[in-house]
Amino acid sequence: MENVQIKTPPEEPFLSYNRYLRERYGERVYRVAVDGGFSCPNRGADRQSPGCSYCDEYGSRAVYLPGKVPALEKQVEAGLGFLRKRYSAERFILYFQAFSGTFAPVEKLKICYDTALSCHQFLELIVSTRPDCITPAAADLLASYRGVLSDVWVELGLQSVHDRTLRRIQRGHTFQDFHDSFLMLQSKGIKCAVHVIFGLPGESEEDMMETIDVLAALKPGGIKIHDLHIPQGTSMHREYLQGELALASSKRHAEYVIGALERLPAECVVMRLTCDTPAERRALPVEVPVKDAFYREIRKSMDARNTWQGKYMKPGSTGF
Ligand code: SF4
Repeated sequence: MENVQIKTPPEEPFLSYNRYLRERYGERVYRVAVDGGFSCPNRGADRQSPGCSYCDEYGSRAVYLPGKVPALEKQVEAGLGFLRKRYSAERFILYFQAFSGTFAPVEKLKICYDTALSCHQFLELIVSTRPDCITPAAADLLASYRGVLSDVWVELGLQSVHDRTLRRIQRGHTFQDFHDSFLMLQSKGIKCAVHVIFGLPGESEEDMMETIDVLAALKPGGIKIHDLHIPQGTSMHREYLQGELALASSKRHAEYVIGALERLPAECVVMRLTCDTPAERRALPVEVPVKDAFYREIRKSMDARNTWQGKYMKPGSTGF
């Protein structure tokens, strides 16, 4: 591989989110996921328009949130209760996970964020959203919480840097939209984690690694890598049934993941390596790897190959 840097192997082959949080706060920290009731520009105000070709009616909501959107106070209470009971959790991050967490007038955003943040002494605020949903006013509002919280993160759904792929999966935004929002957030001291999907229709391994190289050059705070899951009733499911696309095996996904980790900066927090669409909503793949076992397998393979996160990051790469 070109531009190889000789580096010293770290103790662990990649910077997992759990390790990052433990090192930052000295203990395990858990995310309380809430749904602010926002829609997304790709789904319309009532959340009913088709949106991205792999998006179902749930729009990435936490598994423990019930169907109807309850008051934020109730959601926080339920989330804290769930995490305390299940994991004996004590310290928490507030996470606006569902749909596009900045898709509302800034006055409404402020009420939502303030309401949820007032329910507990959270360490951080994380808002998941789309690249075309970040206005300067929303970015300023998010930056204003930096004074009272340890960190403010925005998770930006990108999926691929290739506009032809973004068109095919009906994302409704371009790479340039992402780039502009990313730089705006970064300039205000907001950390960005980028979502990508491996195995999207029409993409080769080279395309996926190009996505990673472009992101690596931007030095995001974190990354979430997903294997492609196709929920029931989505337009991508119909495409699959018509024989228009094939899914990568988990073994192949593991190879993509290792290739991506090798190209990412060592300090980029690896927040996710697989997707976790619940079985009752997932049409494909029928079988998915257990998350912990998948992580163990990645660590084992990377150790066996004497490779690690950042080993093959291209120095000074400007991506596209
Ligand atoms: S941006 Fe997210 S919520 Fe909106 S349609 Fe796409 S996957 Fe669904």
